[in-house]
Amino acid sequence: MRQPIMAGNWKMNKTEHEAADFVKELKPRVSGISNCTILICPPFCNLSKVHDEIVDSNIQLGAQNLFWEDKGAFTGEISAPMLKSVGCTYVIVGHSERRQYFGETDETVNKKIKAALAHHLNAIVCVGETLEQREKEQTFKVIEKQVKEGLKGLESSDFKNIVIAYEPIWAIGTGKTATPAQAEEIHAFIRKLLPKEVAAEVRILYGGSVKPENVKELMGQPDIDGGLVGGAALKADSFEQLIKY
Ligand code: PEP
Repeated sequence: MRQPIMAGNWKMNKTEHEAADFVKELKPRVSGISNCTILICPPFCNLSKVHDEIVDSNIQLGAQNLFWEDKGAFTGEISAPMLKSVGCTYVIVGHSERRQYFGETDETVNKKIKAALAHHLNAIVCVGETLEQREKEQTFKVIEKQVKEGLKGLESSDFKNIVIAYEPIWAIGTGKTATPAQAEEIHAFIRKLLPKEVAAEVRILYGGSVKPENVKELMGQPDIDGGLVGGAALKADSFEQLIKY
C-alpha cells in the first residue's frame, strides 16, 4: 500500500516571516491527517525556521536541491548532512528548472540521489519531457533515459527512499495540466522501468499545474501516488484542499 504524498515546492518564494506565517496557518488545517504524507520544500534559508514551526506536527520538511559532496570548497552549495541537521527528511533532485537553468544532467542527478540516500534522506527524483519532445513523440525515450540514468547503480533496498515525480515541463507553471490519462500512461510506464521487486512500492508523484480543481481526478489514477505542487502550494487554503483531495 503506497501512502500518498502531497509535496509543496515553494521554489524561490517566501521570506522567513512569510514562511513561518504559512506554516502557522497550515498546521491546524491539516492536523490529524495521517493517510497522506504532507511535505513542504521551502528555500534553503527558511528550512530552520520552518523546522521550528512544524515540530510536533504531521508536516515534513524537504529541500529543493543538494550538492553531492558532504563538505568543502563548494561556494554556494548545500550538502545532505547540512539538510539533515536542519530537520529535512526529503530532498527534491533534478527538478526541470534545475536541469534547464542550472545545467543539471542525469549524471549529476545520479550523484545527488546517491548523496541523499547515503545520508538517509528520501530523494524525490524529477523527470519530464518538453513540449517539443512530446510533439516529436520522444516522451517515452526521454523518460526512460532520465529514469535509468538517474537511478543507475541503486540497489533494490535503496528504493524505499526513492520517490519519482513525473513533471511534463509543458505543464509546470503554465496552467496546462496533463490529462489524467496522459499522466497515468507515463506513470505506468515509469513503474515498469523500475526493478520488479520494488516497482509496486515506489511512489510516483505527478507535477504540473496540480490544483484543487484537478487533484481528485489525477489522484484517482492507479499509478499516481501524489503531487509535487508549485503555485497551488503557496497558499495554505489551496494546499489544504490538495492534501484533503
Ligand atoms: C513544480 O514546482 O514542480 C510544479 C509542478 O509547479 P506548478 O504546480 O506551479 O506547475
